[in-house]
Amino acid sequence: MGKIVLKEAYKITLATGNMHKVQEINLIAKQYNIQFVLPEGEFDPIEDGSDFIENAYCKAKEATKSGKTELYLADDSGLCVQALGGAPGIRSARYAPSAQERIDKLLNAMKNIENRDAKFVCAMVVTNKKGEVLFKVQEECLGKILLERKGNNGFGYDPVFFVNSENKGMAELNSDEKAKVSHRAKALNSVLKWLKNETFK
Ligand code: IMP
Repeated sequence: MGKIVLKEAYKITLATGNMHKVQEINLIAKQYNIQFVLPEGEFDPIEDGSDFIENAYCKAKEATKSGKTELYLADDSGLCVQALGGAPGIRSARYAPSAQERIDKLLNAMKNIENRDAKFVCAMVVTNKKGEVLFKVQEECLGKILLERKGNNGFGYDPVFFVNSENKGMAELNSDEKAKVSHRAKALNSVLKWLKNETFK
């Protein structure tokens, strides 16, 4: 790849329609002088991959159709619960119709199950405008499924996820605290480090 020059707020298209993710990602990226912009128009990619990396790639490729930037970043993430054989996994967003119902379904599936080990997974893929993969990474945040909801922050499954490293629920962490330990933060930091290296190569 040719040398990337990071000028004032270098723009990268972020292949998502999820505003929670945009906020989390921009909070971490601001120190790198990068501005993530959303794809133009409606963004509704078909995620038919068999793992997180493949689904992230589906999103990045879709974003290249409408984006106007040199680089495209897509993430695909989800919750994998050991006792449920890794479910909901890549189907986390489609596990039940609403966030409320997804949590209820999960708590119900985990009723009377002692092994509560779980992890959030986040895959990120960077492509150029031709859809060629330039960088990919997958990171995890280890934890446990709580017996009931705890905390008011975050989104998705955060209220029922206990973060091992923090000894607290994910929804009890504020956005700066989550930005230090989350699966998405870890993956994004790898992307940003890679990007910095590309710049100064
Ligand atoms: P995606 O938008 O296809 O990556 O779907 C990810 C889904 O996994 C989200 O809709 C959430 O339900 C769940 N998820 C991913 N990351 C998080 C997180 O940081 N907190 C809570 N839920 C998450």
